[in-house]
Amino acid sequence: MSLLSQYGWNSHFEQHYTSFLNQGLEAGRVTAINAFNHTIISDNGSSTAMLAGALMNSKETWELPKVGDWVVFKPYDDQSIIIDVLPRQNAISRKLPGKSSQQQVIAANIDAALIIQGLDRDFNLQRLQRYLQQVYQCGIQPVIILNKQDLVDAPEAYRQQVLALGYNCPVLLTSALNHEQLGDWTSQYLQPGKTFALLGSSGVGKSTLFNALSGLAIQKEGSVSTFNNKGQHTTTARHLTMLPNGSMLIDSPGMREFGLTIDADEGVSFHHPQIEALSAKCRFRDCTHQQEPGCAVIDAVEEGTLPMTVYRNYLKLIREQYHYQASAMEKKRMEQQFGKLSRQINALRRKRKY
Ligand code: GDP
Ligand code: ZN
Repeated sequence: MSLLSQYGWNSHFEQHYTSFLNQGLEAGRVTAINAFNHTIISDNGSSTAMLAGALMNSKETWELPKVGDWVVFKPYDDQSIIIDVLPRQNAISRKLPGKSSQQQVIAANIDAALIIQGLDRDFNLQRLQRYLQQVYQCGIQPVIILNKQDLVDAPEAYRQQVLALGYNCPVLLTSALNHEQLGDWTSQYLQPGKTFALLGSSGVGKSTLFNALSGLAIQKEGSVSTFNNKGQHTTTARHLTMLPNGSMLIDSPGMREFGLTIDADEGVSFHHPQIEALSAKCRFRDCTHQQEPGCAVIDAVEEGTLPMTVYRNYLKLIREQYHYQASAMEKKRMEQQFGKLSRQINALRRKRKY
């Protein structure tokens, strides 16, 4: 099997690549980005590349290559040049608050997101649902991993709490420190040729898991840190690593600060398999399932076919979203007012010449 297909190359990318074939360009996958240097894996192995100026000038930031992207590049001995990015099948992204067209892409072409929570202090159903919402919004399937099961007496009880949320996705218990047990679920869920992204708050055990699975003792401190122009400390290392079993794992520092971002211009959205299925039967298409007549969700709760816990969680999350949305709108209104005010002041200054 060619290196490309081992890394997940498929007919979608093949098809978009054909127009570049006669230009002497190669195809490859971005496995790491450090400042301007992109590490690319292609049929000729690993190489480093920079972006073509024309590409930088013609694309928005979110369109530029990210870890997981397939790119076409002109190979050179020391530094290849990336000419274009092949259309993504999906991406883990978050909207940048306030700017509806702007989004931050964290990783591209993902088969499933591994959402990690630790059973020590991190376990939090509300936060878990925020991750789920974001992942579903990107059209990506989640796998929930409850890590640090060695630290609690009855880990299965936590798993049951998650199952009670009613998302039809796998919920696994594990301990990143117990390497023997890791093999049990990884062989089932991390299939060769597929790409998985690790998501979760700081301290849940992503690095430990990443290192255990990759069989490498990469130290967390080994990632490259820089100071950005605001003097804040940022980690810039992002990696796609092939695991010994042929599946790929993306760990990205950007994923640590992942959470619900709501845009003022955007409606409240909620992704839940059971509620989505029911809402097709609500009388109103924009039903919020709170007090509307003919609401199939409320009916299902009353009939007992939709668990009360699922519905309560829905209400909590939807209210949280309204709250965020309201404050985003308020901020936008203030900015508009401020803009108006400063324009008036400037006009006044010009008139009075001070
Ligand atoms: P990250 O911030 O998500 O990358 O978390 P780390 O991988 O750095 O882990 C945070 C801490 O939790 C470290 O001290 C790990 O040794 C510890 N840890 C990670 N996984 C487990 C686990 O399964 N059990 C226990 N007891 N500790 C763990
Ligand atoms: Zn409804």
